[in-house]
Amino acid sequence: MKKLLIQKNLLTNNIKKIVETARLSGCEVMAMLKGNGYGLGLCQFARLLLQNGVKTLAVSEFCEAKELRENGIDNEIILLSPMCDLNDATEAVRLGIVCAIGSEESAIILNLAAEQQNMRVRSHICLDTGFGRFGFLADDTKYINDVLSRLTNVDIEGVFSHLSDSFGDETNSQKQYELFKSAVKNLEDNGYPFKLKHICNSCAFLRFCDMHMDAVRVGSAFLGRLPIKNTLDLNRIGLLESCICEIKTLPKGHNIGYANTYTTKRETKIAVIPVGYKDGFGVVKTNDAFRFKDILRYIYSDARALFRDNSIYVTINNKKCRLLGRVSMFNIIADITDVEAQVGDAVYLECNPILIDSAIEREYI
Ligand SMILES: *Cc1c(COP(=O)(O)O)cnc(C)c1O
Repeated sequence: MKKLLIQKNLLTNNIKKIVETARLSGCEVMAMLKGNGYGLGLCQFARLLLQNGVKTLAVSEFCEAKELRENGIDNEIILLSPMCDLNDATEAVRLGIVCAIGSEESAIILNLAAEQQNMRVRSHICLDTGFGRFGFLADDTKYINDVLSRLTNVDIEGVFSHLSDSFGDETNSQKQYELFKSAVKNLEDNGYPFKLKHICNSCAFLRFCDMHMDAVRVGSAFLGRLPIKNTLDLNRIGLLESCICEIKTLPKGHNIGYANTYTTKRETKIAVIPVGYKDGFGVVKTNDAFRFKDILRYIYSDARALFRDNSIYVTINNKKCRLLGRVSMFNIIADITDVEAQVGDAVYLECNPILIDSAIEREYI
């Protein structure tokens, strides 16, 4: 048994706090819902957002926009990834999705999709100011103008860019922001008065108040899971519930788990819990360090981990229990030597919902 518990009150408080902060700053909130709504369940999370003051939803994939519409959500939806498939674009136009344009090809596909149905489509232009992913290169304004001037069935309403280092060195974000502003000004001078300009994600929203512009695209902040200081005091959302499926006592000196990383130091009562990598539990981002200063940072944090108790804990009958050995594909082992527990007792595990397999049931509590 396992399900992902989502603490509705805590999540609602986060939403309200974010909406209010944006309101005071004079910008609107676009709630980002990629990855099954950051693991909170696409439609359930969308409804909660809409009930608590969010007006615009943003997604990364067409299938997400479609699922929202199929579930009766007829609010504004922006698809932030430019489209490359004419069938998807055709359906997106029909469903009234606001679509991004980030290249000549995506512009042509979107325009064609609208033209063939004798409809108009609303769009936001995506500019690459330094991320190196989607978008027209920001200083290519002449080329962008040329592409946009050929679009017969597209209404251009917004322009946006995405920050690559909003959680890191502020100067990287500043540079992107300045480039964005100057590119937008050039485009506006050529006759595109954008109603909605946006560049901030969650971290930038919390850190860079001067960059809010007309809208902020917020995702991970709703879950209170950010790689920066939690200045809004947001609650951490996400708790996996499972149960104990076996209990036994191991003698001192017995191995636990793959690669023999743990040996019992005393007679130890253990609980086997049917949760593992397969479910997304215990998945850690790999250290993709290339630069020397990053490597030093990782060495430092690894060294720190040696001196601190870096273990993972789960909660059983209101007691914290340490996990022993490695997380394996289907199971984890908890030390319950000092806990009253039986097979079938509930186990609670702190987790990031976005990592939890979307096949696992979500329950709002
Ligand atoms: C994911 C994403 C966001 C939101 O990012 P968070 O850091 O989770 O707030 C904003 N804009 C774009 C284009 C994204 O892909």
